[in-house]
Amino acid sequence: MPQDKSNGIRRDKRVRPKIVLVCSLVLILLVSMLFTGAGSGATGSAQTAKYVVFREDDVAPKADFAELQAVNQVHIDKNVPVTLGIIPHPYPTPSGNQLIEVSQTFLDYMRSLTSNHLFQFAQHGYTHLDTGPSPQGPSEFYGRPYAAQYNAIKQGRDDITQAFGVTPTSFLPPFDKSDNNTLKAAQALGFTEYSTAFADVNMNQGYKEGIKVDTISIELGNNSLQSLENATEQWLNNPNSINTFIVLYHPSDFKGADGTVNATELKLLGDYIDYLQGTGRVQFTTLDRSVTTTGNGAVASSNSVGTTAVGATDVPNRVADVPVLAAILAFSLAAILTIRLRKNKNSRKR
Ligand SMILES: [Zn+2]
Repeated sequence: MPQDKSNGIRRDKRVRPKIVLVCSLVLILLVSMLFTGAGSGATGSAQTAKYVVFREDDVAPKADFAELQAVNQVHIDKNVPVTLGIIPHPYPTPSGNQLIEVSQTFLDYMRSLTSNHLFQFAQHGYTHLDTGPSPQGPSEFYGRPYAAQYNAIKQGRDDITQAFGVTPTSFLPPFDKSDNNTLKAAQALGFTEYSTAFADVNMNQGYKEGIKVDTISIELGNNSLQSLENATEQWLNNPNSINTFIVLYHPSDFKGADGTVNATELKLLGDYIDYLQGTGRVQFTTLDRSVTTTGNGAVASSNSVGTTAVGATDVPNRVADVPVLAAILAFSLAAILTIRLRKNKNSRKR
């Protein structure tokens, strides 16, 4: 009995410092890893998730229908969302809801897209006619009284809702030319996002008249793949750049010769999307952020869970790995310690 007791004491004396040492090591490792994690989080904040939004303007009945379908198919094939800027009332007649009355083919096609989360239905003015007395180029809204702007936007919004069962929340003023009353009217009508040219609002990204503003970064139609890549690289590598890159195009940009769809231009869009995916640094979303994908068939988030999932992807992966690494290390150390204790026990037995 006394022998056992002394053995026990001896063992405790030998083991205790080891446990303390191992625990300290684990603690030091955990703390240092947490700091590394925090560090990568800090550098990560400079490179938080970047988003590319494709904005397809001038979606209207009887307007470039083959091109509209072809370009949308690229988005379906690549699993990349797009915001459709719909013109509700582009023609002088009929006076009713032209989205319903002008082309049944267009109506059916657009209705078929409503169940596909890749397509956001946004409103692109009402008539898209140059009615505003703008001193700087054409505008549907600039300079018109608030009430006139409000009524036109409201009519267009109601037409879209009636035709497609979707109430738009993003407003895109035609010709990217508007004024503060346009922003105010859109805000009053429940729109939450506004997209126009930088020169129209003198800001890149932010809030104006209580509505979120995202401005156009580049036009697809004016560019080669190389110049699109150069502009994108510049945006990606500038630590002060805004987090969303908006690429504008129109179905008419994909018009080929003799009424055909321009395959070269379609390929440009496809190649540009492939390039963006290849950077591994961007996600694709819509102006309303209702869906976010990484392309290649992977959906990062959609609809109601969008915000949560997008927020989560902002956290650098290394931070998320810390608890796992810590657990592995702690387990390994515990295993080593157990083996050592057994060895000590065995050596005493022998
Ligand atoms: Zn337009």
